[in-house]
Amino acid sequence: MAAKLAYRRALLKVSGEAFAGRAGAGIDFGVIDRVSDELKSVTATGVQLGLVVGGGNILRGTTASQQGVDRVSADYMGMLATIINALALQDILEKKGVDTRVMTAIRMEELAEPYIRRRAVRHLEKGRMVIFAGGTGNPYFSTDTAAVLRALEIEAQVILKATNVDGVYTADPKKDPKAEFIPELSFQDALVKGYAVMDANAFGLCKENKLPIVVFNINQTGATARVLAGERVGTIVQ
Ligand code: UDP
Repeated sequence: MAAKLAYRRALLKVSGEAFAGRAGAGIDFGVIDRVSDELKSVTATGVQLGLVVGGGNILRGTTASQQGVDRVSADYMGMLATIINALALQDILEKKGVDTRVMTAIRMEELAEPYIRRRAVRHLEKGRMVIFAGGTGNPYFSTDTAAVLRALEIEAQVILKATNVDGVYTADPKKDPKAEFIPELSFQDALVKGYAVMDANAFGLCKENKLPIVVFNINQTGATARVLAGERVGTIVQ
């Protein structure tokens, strides 16, 4: 089965919004349950998968700092939010029989392993899904940047950016009926035309290191496994 895979190792970025469900904030366990079913179907294909989870459903550093919280403290709160999401996801995945490890960029050994690159790779080689939590461990960064950083560190061949839309469009498809879907983009075109694929830091890292990004809709059943099998799903930026 593994021989048919387009990618041997991949990194999936799931933003906090994907955990919030319709409420738009907090954790909707029903939604995590659905995401977990998707992820479980990926493990069956044999691909080695790392995950980076966001925390925007609980707290964003920039928003909290606009309300008067010191920016660095706010960012640490945001990083802790990603760890809450990671533990929720791990719990549901494990209940479904998916072997997982949470590794945190901020040490919290009572509940998760500290991030150590070689150990992360070892877990992946043993078929465990690794959830990288706590972002980069540094304020002023985002979980998009953390996702690219971890993808490069574990030598993932692709980064999958899970969203609620099918990929990159010429305009916001929810607001503009003339928005056109773009199946393939070069890094240069994405930059010149200003398509917000990831935040600028994260995007720059991908471009510099020629790490392809696939933007796709995680709400479509089977999409994650199809992307990893090399099917044309979503938008590929390379
Ligand atoms: N954060 C940070 N450093 C990192 C990653 C995240 O300071 O390396 C903080 C930042 O405040 C951010 C919050 O954690 O707003 C939640 O992450 P993010 O906004 O990237 O989550 P997402 O938008 O993917 O849900």
